[in-house]
Amino acid sequence: MNVSLVAYTPNPEVTVALAARTCYSHHLSLEISLEKAQILIQELIQRGHESVLEHASFTFQIEGISRVASHQLVRHRLASYSQQSHRYVALHEPNFVCPPSIAKHEEAHALYREVLGHCQKTYERLLQLGIEKEDARYLLPQGVTTNLFFSANARELLHIFRLRLCNRAQWEIRELCWQMLTLVRVVAPSIFALAGPPCVDGICPEGEKSCGRPWKKSA
Ligand SMILES: Cc1cc2nc3c(=O)[nH]c(=O)nc-3n(C[C@H](O)[C@H](O)[C@H](O)COP(=O)(O)OP(=O)(O)OC[C@H]3O[C@@H](n4cnc5c(N)ncnc54)[C@H](O)[C@@H]3O)c2cc1C
Repeated sequence: MNVSLVAYTPNPEVTVALAARTCYSHHLSLEISLEKAQILIQELIQRGHESVLEHASFTFQIEGISRVASHQLVRHRLASYSQQSHRYVALHEPNFVCPPSIAKHEEAHALYREVLGHCQKTYERLLQLGIEKEDARYLLPQGVTTNLFFSANARELLHIFRLRLCNRAQWEIRELCWQMLTLVRVVAPSIFALAGPPCVDGICPEGEKSCGRPWKKSA
């Protein structure tokens, strides 16, 4: 997969801090140093005053994730999406994500490629027979890759990272979220310093279902 940060609110940390200052000042504040903004943001996050984080938005281009992962991503309702349409785009040479568990198993990998090849050939044949793309696409497996434009504010991104970077989330959406987090940490470090599942800075709420391992990138 390829993930890039294509746009974001200019000076996201200063913007968030100015929004917060509005709540606590008699007059509108127009200036705050980056250093003070970063300290204030950490206090705001600790206090749970997260609504001010909605003033900073981030837009990503996401290329080459499976429809499995994109379906998980679009369940997050407080974000905006534009996704490649298989009604309009014919997939003459589709790519497919192969899960590592299948890729490393010789027999499973051979079976996987065989069935994908069969689906692909049949899809192409249906198009030749005059079937519309929107109907032929019913044959495309969930592993087929897709591209999205995805925008969300910092509060929603933190929520998504909390759920989807957890070891209990699936490997592909974890990888996607890790790449997004790495990008936003560069431009808004104080907002995303403690981003990740609850075990990053507290107790795992998963109870019996907990993986029992504190979170780290390689898990
Ligand atoms: C490990 C894992 C396994 C999952 N397994 C399944 C599964 O088996 N089946 C399944 O269907 N889904 C599953 N999901 C998806 C999950 O149920 C949520 O749909 C998805 O994570 C979006 O989360 P959300 O609703 O909290 O967030 P968002 O849609 O991102 O919303 C953010 C927050 O806004 C608030 N909010 C948003 N919309 C409303 C609303 N209409 N009313 C009130 N408050 C709202 C809530 O506080 C919500 O937490 C799974 C998710 C994870 C992380």
